[in-house]
Amino acid sequence: MSRLHRNAGRGVGLMIFVALAACQGHGGAPAENPTRRALAAVDAARLTAADSEPGSWMSYGRTYSEQRYSPLARVNDKTVADLGLAWSHDFGTERGIEATSIVVDGVMYATSAWSIVHALDARTGKPLWRYDPGVAKAKAKHTCCDVVNRGVAVWEGQVFLGALDGRLIALDAATGAVNWEVATVDAALPYTITGAPRVIRGKVLIGNGGAEFGVRGFLSAYDAKTGKLVWRFYTVPGDPALGFENQAMAMAAKTWNGTWWELGGGGGTVWDAMAHDPELDLLYIGVGNGTPWNREIRSPGGGDNLFLSSIVALRPDTGEYVWHYQTTPGETWDYTATQHIILADLELDGKPRKVLMQAPKNGFFYVLDRTDGTLLSAENYIGVTWATHVDLKTGRPVEVPGARYEDKPFLVVPSYLGGHNWHPMSFNPDTGLVYIPVLDFGANYAQPENFRYRPGISNVGTHGILGSLPDSQAERNALRPLIKGRLVAWDPKTQKEAWRVEHKGSWNGGTLTTAGNLVFQGTADGSFVAYSADEGKPLWSFPAQTGIVAPPITYEIDGEQYVSLNVGWGGAFALVFGEFVQAKSLPNVSRVLTFKLGARGELPAVDWKPAVHFSPPQQTASAETLQKGFAEYSDVCMGCHGLNAVSGLLIPDLRGSGFLHDQAAWDSVVRDGALRDRGMAAFGDQVSPEESRAIRAYVIQQAWRAVDLQKNAEVAP
Ligand code: CA
Repeated sequence: MSRLHRNAGRGVGLMIFVALAACQGHGGAPAENPTRRALAAVDAARLTAADSEPGSWMSYGRTYSEQRYSPLARVNDKTVADLGLAWSHDFGTERGIEATSIVVDGVMYATSAWSIVHALDARTGKPLWRYDPGVAKAKAKHTCCDVVNRGVAVWEGQVFLGALDGRLIALDAATGAVNWEVATVDAALPYTITGAPRVIRGKVLIGNGGAEFGVRGFLSAYDAKTGKLVWRFYTVPGDPALGFENQAMAMAAKTWNGTWWELGGGGGTVWDAMAHDPELDLLYIGVGNGTPWNREIRSPGGGDNLFLSSIVALRPDTGEYVWHYQTTPGETWDYTATQHIILADLELDGKPRKVLMQAPKNGFFYVLDRTDGTLLSAENYIGVTWATHVDLKTGRPVEVPGARYEDKPFLVVPSYLGGHNWHPMSFNPDTGLVYIPVLDFGANYAQPENFRYRPGISNVGTHGILGSLPDSQAERNALRPLIKGRLVAWDPKTQKEAWRVEHKGSWNGGTLTTAGNLVFQGTADGSFVAYSADEGKPLWSFPAQTGIVAPPITYEIDGEQYVSLNVGWGGAFALVFGEFVQAKSLPNVSRVLTFKLGARGELPAVDWKPAVHFSPPQQTASAETLQKGFAEYSDVCMGCHGLNAVSGLLIPDLRGSGFLHDQAAWDSVVRDGALRDRGMAAFGDQVSPEESRAIRAYVIQQAWRAVDLQKNAEVAP
């Protein structure tokens, strides 16, 4: 073995060796002649029987049921204290890292920011190949929530990547060479892809994002061999005058009012969750929010607006609609149901039930019968202010009067980032618990003063200023402790919390649970922690030097269990809540960290100097201009540059920008796109010269406030 390893140290030779080792490393692998085994040789038989091959992590949620539970137990509550760093690999990108790596046949396929794929030797971290799809940096304009990617899928020797710009790309698993690529969206529209594809019986399933901006959501299935489109399922109806694609769209259109197709297309993007039950022959997808969020604008006069915020069951071979359950009828708060879907078999009231579980943004934990979508139970997993409960007879939430902010602002909990977002949860059949990375804070929603639909940029249709943080620093400081996050162990049978771990801040990592009575989770403040799955007792931690949002995985090669995690701070919260990020001064260090028992690796020191230097020009704008600038900034700039012009530091803090000193220079960036190659696209089509001046004036005001704060800090005791 070691001789082979030394001699086959290049390219494919090494990978074949690694594949052999992986085949021999566990008893459950297919028994065919291993020399014929290619890389990423995943097929329906192997993926459906993933539990007999626990050494691999062959698809996004490990198995089609997406439980993120590993039967591996060499690393367990007794041994985890001896876990140490085996290897690390730097991605070389500096934005959010959200991906789940695939590990199969000895190779790890990880993704980093900008949809870059990294193939690594899963045992050593040695790079095998790297593929950069060359996404134009200006595409960042169409991302609500950072230029992230959540992972690839593998099937019969190929690796499938959904690139940020909407391409689906099939790579040779051995070399990273492109076998085929196809545009899955109209490139002229603000669609993006951040989610991981799934593969069912040779069809690659891929959705998209963009509902903040104005798109019509859909899921597509492509032939894995040829890249040919097999079917497409739209999640919201198009213009009825053009006819409907199917009966499901005709049914959905009855729940809409107005001319939503002229406001970007209704939204309802399928940007993350999918699960599959091979026995029932059903594919489950989670559908996102409306465009705009505000139903008063999107569908005047009301309506449930199917299939927004719904879980929809489809036939995987044809895309035919089977059933749906809508978590938030008439959604108006960005309450997506794209959050992680987990399938499990639970005994409820003495009867075995095939269930589907989801904790969508709206704050309720749902248990459905996955054969037909019947709601079995729903309870809130955090305190919610928009609804009192879910009525089990009607299956609908009972809303609190005023929560739709028709007449006056309403403080809604959870916020538009949800009580739980994309960060995967996990289900442990041994403890019967679901481990949820919970976000706990609210947001102020109000009707906008003058909504106008602007193609190509954010069109959420709520009041930007009233949705921002207070101007007063004292008030902002008082709010800080209210922005909370925790790990919650939830019992889906009793719909009650079993235990919780309160974190220092919000926006922590996804979870992994194992047969070793463990739950792993990374935190926003840079710790990778193992807890006992039954009681939530912290057993081990590792300082990761960077905020963590991605979920861990585990795999086994030659009898050695590895635990691996992609680290690197980023995503929506990191961009928007700059105020809270700067207070903690978190770096982004984008890396794979892989651990095993007995290893003692160390990370190189990080040099991190997050300070923003302010030297703004004199303020000459009127109060009226400043107010207009605040409104424009909140509508157009806030999503990337942060609430109240305080950046999360992944993207430049505009208050420190030299371009503030000259309107023409400012316009060359904001309106003409002088920095498009660094990710700042031209906004000249959406932002007028007058609006650009007002935004600049507002940022100058915020910079002077920062200067005053720094002075006060210097004279404070
Ligand atoms: Ca959204």
